[in-house]
Amino acid sequence: MRKKIVVIIGAGPAGTSAAIQLAQAGFSPLIVDKDNFPRDKVCGDAVSGEGLLISETFGLLEELEQEGYKCEKREFYTDQTELQIINKKAINIPREKFDLMLFKKALSLGAEFMCAEFSGKVTYKDGYHSVELLNPGKEKFLVDCEYLIIATGCQSDLALRELGRKHKIACPDQVAYRGYYRAKWPIKERKYFFLRELTPGYAWIFPLGKGLFNVGCGGKILKARKLELKDCLSRFVSKTNALYKCTGVWEKEPKGAPLRSNFSNLINFKGYPNLILIGEAMGATYPFSGGGIGKSMLSAVLAAESVMEVVNKKGNHCLSKVYQNKINKKMKPKYYTFFKFCDYLLTSSFLQKFVYEKVFNSKKYPDLIPNILCGKIRPERLFSIPFVIGLGLQKKR
Ligand SMILES: Cc1cc2nc3c(=O)[nH]c(=O)nc-3n(C[C@H](O)[C@H](O)[C@H](O)COP(=O)(O)OP(=O)(O)OC[C@H]3O[C@@H](n4cnc5c(N)ncnc54)[C@H](O)[C@@H]3O)c2cc1C
Repeated sequence: MRKKIVVIIGAGPAGTSAAIQLAQAGFSPLIVDKDNFPRDKVCGDAVSGEGLLISETFGLLEELEQEGYKCEKREFYTDQTELQIINKKAINIPREKFDLMLFKKALSLGAEFMCAEFSGKVTYKDGYHSVELLNPGKEKFLVDCEYLIIATGCQSDLALRELGRKHKIACPDQVAYRGYYRAKWPIKERKYFFLRELTPGYAWIFPLGKGLFNVGCGGKILKARKLELKDCLSRFVSKTNALYKCTGVWEKEPKGAPLRSNFSNLINFKGYPNLILIGEAMGATYPFSGGGIGKSMLSAVLAAESVMEVVNKKGNHCLSKVYQNKINKKMKPKYYTFFKFCDYLLTSSFLQKFVYEKVFNSKKYPDLIPNILCGKIRPERLFSIPFVIGLGLQKKR
C-alpha cells in the first residue's frame, strides 16, 4: 500500500491548482483522476478574474494568452435590450487545453499522477486516510495519506461514506449544454443573452478565435420546469445565423453537464479532520456571478496554504478548521445572505418579469445587471426601496 502526505482526487482546475501550489512549496502530492489527460470538460471555456490572476502567479499567463483568445469586453443582451461592460483581461480557451496546461505544470513541479477512480470510501485511523480507488480494470486498491483533498467537481452521484453515513458530494443547481461551432460570425467579444425561456439562466457565444465559437445555454434546475436545452440551443444558433446571414457547422457536437454556483461551503466531515473539499465539489462559486474556474482555483490555493500551515505546526491544528477559516475570510461574500436571497427570489416568475421589464431596460442603471453578475455591485441594491421606486417611475426607452 502506498503512503503519501497529500492525495488530491480530481485533476480539474481546483485539483491541479492545489497540486501546483503544494509542489511549489516542496510537497509531492499525488493527483488521482478517473480520466487520463488531455481530456475534454463541458464548459463555456471563459477564464477570468481569479482564474487569470492565479494563472499568472503560476507563471502560466503568457502561455494562456498564446493558446487562448483574448476578449476586451463582455456584452449582455436580453430579448429587448443590449448592455455592455468593459473587462480588460478575459481569455477564452478550450478546457481540454487549459486543464492540460495546469496538469503539466503540476507534474513539472514534482506532483505525481495516477489514473484511477475514487469510490467514495475513506477510513481514517491513526492520522491516516485509507482511500479506496478503482483501477481502469475496476479492481479496488487503497492509498494512504495524511491529508486528503477532494476536487471531484460537480459529479452528482459521488457520495462520501463516513461512519456509516452517506454524504452526497456536490448537488448541482444548474444544468448547461454547449458545443463548438465554426461560423463566419463577426463576433469578437463574449456575448451573454438573457433569454426569457431560460430564466434564470442564459445563452452565450464565446469566441475562441479563427472562426470557432463556444456556444451554449443553461439555467437553474427548478422543479417547476423542464429545460429543453438542446432545442433552445438549436433555435439560438439558427437565429444568430439568420442575423449574420451565414450558416456554420458544429465542430464538436453539443454536450450537457450539471454545474453548481450556490456557494454552499461544505467543508467539514466529522471524524475526518484532515479531509477537505475544494472547487465545485465544495461549491466555491457564488450565485449570480459565475466564474467557476477562477473560484475553484482560489479555493485550491487556500487549501494548499492550509495544508502548509498545518504541516508546519504539526499536532496543533486540524486541516478542515484552518481551511474553513480561510474560506470564510477570503471567499465567503460579506453579503452572503443577500446573494442567497436574490438567488432564491430570481426563481419567482414575478421577479424575473420585473428584472426583464424594468431592470434590463433601465435608462438610469444600464450597467446594473452586468455589474451584479460580475460581483462589482451588491445584489441587494435590486431590493432597496429608493431603487425600486426609481425604476417604477421611469419611462420605458
Ligand atoms: C456547460 C458549462 C459551462 C461552464 N462555463 C464556465 C465558464 O465559461 N467559465 C467558468 O469559469 N466556469 C464555467 N463553468 C463551471 C466550471 O466548469 C467549473 O466551475 C469548474 O470546472 C470546476 O472546477 P473543479 O476543478 O472543481 O471541477 P472539474 O473541472 O469538474 O474537475 C473535476 C475532476 O475530477 C475528476 N473526477 C470526478 N469524479 C472522480 C472520481 N470519482 N474519481 C477520480 N476523479 C474524479 C473529473 O474527471 C475531473 O477531471 C461551466 C460549467 C458547465 C457545466
